[in-house]
Amino acid sequence: METTDIKKNVQNILQTLPPNVTLVAAAKTRTGDEVKAAVEGGVKVLGHNYVQEAEQMHEEIGEWTESRDVKWHMIGHLQRNKAKKAISLFDMIETLDSFRLAKKLQKECEKADKTMDVLIEVNSGEESNKTGVTPEFVKELVHKVSELDRLYIKGLMTMGPIGGNPENARPYFRLTKQLFDELSNSPKDNVSMETLSMGMSNSYLQAVEEGATLVRIGTRLFGPRACMTQFSNQPKHNS
Ligand SMILES: *Cc1c(COP(=O)(O)O)cnc(C)c1O
Repeated sequence: METTDIKKNVQNILQTLPPNVTLVAAAKTRTGDEVKAAVEGGVKVLGHNYVQEAEQMHEEIGEWTESRDVKWHMIGHLQRNKAKKAISLFDMIETLDSFRLAKKLQKECEKADKTMDVLIEVNSGEESNKTGVTPEFVKELVHKVSELDRLYIKGLMTMGPIGGNPENARPYFRLTKQLFDELSNSPKDNVSMETLSMGMSNSYLQAVEEGATLVRIGTRLFGPRACMTQFSNQPKHNS
């Protein structure tokens, strides 16, 4: 998509968002120039799904985004063997969904003498996606992670069901918001429910109505993603 169109899309969406809601540009498969256009339109947070893709983009535009105080969030599933790279690339991991991963992040943060902000990913849609912790185990995971002093739990993230009528996503957003509220008076210093990340291109308005403070949007900013078959005659696409 033309960079001027991307800028306009960002500005249009920012106008529809209440001031307390942050727009995350979901950057998967997009070029450095497309992402820069989104930042020029007003995006303050970039979301990445893959550590390797984020690393490549960081080499290309990392200094440029840093000088504009743009934050980088991991929004895809994080594998433990990528934890070390992830803590060097990202300002927040939105997809913490197991204590094993939390322990690995804690260890890498200790080694690098860092701390990391995290969201707990809730598998609210259950059928539609396999990542995230199921709602009944969210509190237990928050409790265990709160014992890890390098990790700061800043809230919850959920995907909800993907596609379909966005009205059908409301019960999943509501469930996640309810957990968020229940956790919001935690006595632990490293647990503060500030960020509720939910809603994508087709469901962000419903998500905001249900209490989201951060929405992750790709298609509505950058246009549809190229279908994989369109890459089949080209050198292997690295993501
Ligand atoms: C791709 C992606 C989004 C954005 O999806 P769109 O439908 O393109 O807006 C949001 N969250 C996650 C985790 C994603 O992978």
